[in-house]
Amino acid sequence: MGGPASASQPLVPPWLAPYAIPGSPPGVPAFSFAGATAAAAPGDAAATAEARELAARPAAIRAARQALYAPPASPLITLRDGTRMPAVGLGTWKAAPGEVRSAVATALQAGYRHIDCAEVYQNEEEVGEALGQVLEQGLVPRQELYIVSKVWNTNHAAARVRQACLRSLKALRLDYLDLYMIHWPVTGNIGPEVKPSIQETWQAMEGLVREGLVRSIGVSNFGVKKLADILSYAAIPPAVCQVEVHPYHRNDALIAWCAQQRIHVTAFSPLGSPDSESIFPRKKPLVLMQNETVKAVAERTGRDVGQVLIRWALQHGTSVIPKSTSPARIRGNLRVFDWELSAEDYAALSTLPDQQRMVNGAMWLNPKGPYRTMEELWDEPEAE
Ligand code: NAP
Repeated sequence: MGGPASASQPLVPPWLAPYAIPGSPPGVPAFSFAGATAAAAPGDAAATAEARELAARPAAIRAARQALYAPPASPLITLRDGTRMPAVGLGTWKAAPGEVRSAVATALQAGYRHIDCAEVYQNEEEVGEALGQVLEQGLVPRQELYIVSKVWNTNHAAARVRQACLRSLKALRLDYLDLYMIHWPVTGNIGPEVKPSIQETWQAMEGLVREGLVRSIGVSNFGVKKLADILSYAAIPPAVCQVEVHPYHRNDALIAWCAQQRIHVTAFSPLGSPDSESIFPRKKPLVLMQNETVKAVAERTGRDVGQVLIRWALQHGTSVIPKSTSPARIRGNLRVFDWELSAEDYAALSTLPDQQRMVNGAMWLNPKGPYRTMEELWDEPEAE
């Protein structure tokens, strides 16, 4: 070292001598000043690998996040307008603020894609936070989701229908709804007629379909007479009628009539809505999940009572939207596709003598009309 460097041998300065590779033949440089050398290569390779890993990280994180979301679990039901609805959805009525966001997130991870909402539930913002998160991060494609909302009684006038729909869309962070429904055939106006008329409201709903704000339209809490009236003038017939259905309120006549008209029925309150008794006081203190037949079928099948009732709703020909905010029950309520109730168990659940609406709408009755009796509200006599 120290001699003049030849043209082929780069200079190795004295301060580098301690770093020379022991045993290297004289004149073989530890590295080249001209660029990368063999000695520097391992560090560079690591840096390159790290750079590659960093570059891949967002994709890896996304893939790991996506893996948290089970594929859609529910079979799809094709509606008369050609759209498809997952047979089991998550109900969100009474799902408390602070709970419903994580309930929806848990449900989507478990494989739910159908979420039943309404402006009057006062939690669409929070549902929207959960939906926004999965959609913005591309964790579940929008076309897999099936999001339902409903226009409330005070918004039946044509202009208000559109505003209500836009509010729900904004809260839910969506640019279209899969299904929008008239929540009740009720407007709060007193007198012989429903005002604004159901026809005005329905035609405004049809406008939402034409505008692309909603894919399907339907009604909720309507009976045969009111549905037949809509069919008499509808350019777009209702695709869905969402009503109360469970073994204590089988609703067979309405379901059979809807089947003839190709109107799909979604069963709400499928577990008997035990948490709504303070809102809708009951004539008879019936608690469906404590019914002896329901409990016996659960025992016999090794399922919980919720699963038995959800499976019954599917075998009864409806889609079904149980509400839960408990992660274990949300997940359990979806485990209803790889088994079935035997003909005997289905028949036992389909012949319970007690029949009663839980969500009975008694609060809408008024001696001045338009609904003075339960029969006028529901288009059929009340079960005794
Ligand atoms: P529901 O689904 O019949 O019952 C909900 C109750 O059952 C909650 O207290 C829930 O508690 C409990 N639960 C859920 N899964 C359970 C299980 N596996 N075992 C035991 N308990 C269980 O009542 P709903 O909320 O009345 O109806 C369901 C949905 O239908 C509503 O949330 C709403 O989306 C829709 N709906 C629509 C209308 C309408 O007018 N269109 C009316 C009523 C309902 P946890 O939360 O603690 O699990």
